[in-house]
Amino acid sequence: MDLYLYNSFSRQKELFTPINPTSGVGLYTCGPTVYDYAHIGHGRKFLMDDILRRTLEFNGYKVNHVQNITDVGHLVSDADDGEDKLEKGAKKQNKTVWEVAEYFTKSFYESMDALNFLRPTTICKATDHIKEQIELIEKLFKNSYAYDTVEAVYFDTAKFADYGKLFGQPLSEKKVGVRNEVKIDANKKNPQDFALWFKRVGNFADHVMHWDSPWGDGFPGWHIECSAMSMKYLGEQIDIHTGGEDHLSIHHPNEIAQSEGATGKKPFSKFWIHSAFLTVDGTKMSKSLGNYFTIEDIIAKGYNPIALRYLYLGAHYKKPMNFTWQALDGALKGLKRLQQTVNNLQISARTILSEEKNQKMEDYRIKFNLAINDDLNTSKAMAVMFEMLKSNIPNPDKYDLAIFFDEVLGLRLKV
Ligand code: AMP
Ligand code: ZN
Repeated sequence: MDLYLYNSFSRQKELFTPINPTSGVGLYTCGPTVYDYAHIGHGRKFLMDDILRRTLEFNGYKVNHVQNITDVGHLVSDADDGEDKLEKGAKKQNKTVWEVAEYFTKSFYESMDALNFLRPTTICKATDHIKEQIELIEKLFKNSYAYDTVEAVYFDTAKFADYGKLFGQPLSEKKVGVRNEVKIDANKKNPQDFALWFKRVGNFADHVMHWDSPWGDGFPGWHIECSAMSMKYLGEQIDIHTGGEDHLSIHHPNEIAQSEGATGKKPFSKFWIHSAFLTVDGTKMSKSLGNYFTIEDIIAKGYNPIALRYLYLGAHYKKPMNFTWQALDGALKGLKRLQQTVNNLQISARTILSEEKNQKMEDYRIKFNLAINDDLNTSKAMAVMFEMLKSNIPNPDKYDLAIFFDEVLGLRLKV
């Protein structure tokens, strides 16, 4: 059945076809920066990745799913301003950067498991791929896209035609040096040029994580890890790349510029998919506002984390979504009701066997597939589930269908 996905690159829904049907779909999902706990906003983004992966598999594709772990180089602002988030986290936790990275990577996947997200087939850490990042920067030098100053190695964005137009973001909208306290390298050629390698000088003279490179001792910029690891595990061109909507303006244009600059402009990814942010009580989640909740907080309050998953499924991934405790309570009730209904069906399914699988069952299968294949329309897919459960098809068939749909929804309905 045809699968349609909204491609942020072309800004329209497109029919999905894999680049290489025999080797499987190459899916790269930008992963977490491991300096703090995963929050409910992260949960929303990784839910979208999980539904995408499950939908591809539901449609019969083998998926090579790669996810990076950012454990170095991501500064407080995505546009290369401020301290390294890992070093900031280490100071706060009174731990080494390596301990912080290990602790929060483990915690991240525990949270993701609690939400029933399928583990990526490859999980790769930036610090394990310094060699690959250096090699990629060398290619960029060879192709005249890189230059170095006393402080860093930069990508020369003026050399990459269309850099400012990727994803329809005008160059003027890119946030560059917006924080007053941050010193901008005076030798940068263009304000929007981004760092490929930071040298261990100036602000970063004491940077804890550092490696030798052809440009001196230092550490990689944040963006280069995704290009290097995507190419290592999935090849120079991939089928789908995902991220949160914040990556439309800086991280993803930079990934495209680096990757295509290195490969001679081979399109880096066929599809780019971005999910909308989660707000809390109508405002941005922030620790200072006290409306910041981790997945662990939800569990500690006694909620089944799958209720959060149920809540996310109620809104399309591109629509804004607002979290309230009332909405989570509603989701928990809905989940319990659904699990109970399916549980009751399971009891009857064990005693009575359906005479024959009828046409209605096939109709529901098609309806569900059409819904989820319409740019991952989870709320429509849930509506098909409820309609099917209320229908007059035999209970054993209802049970089989519910479990079948749950391969995509992941609500742990099989008890
Ligand atoms: P980070 O750990 O900050 O690098 O973020 C990991 C992913 O989570 C990125 O793709 C972000 O866009 C996404 N993300 C961060 N905050 C939110 C939020 N409030 N709602 C949805 N996605 C988010
Ligand atoms: Zn990335």
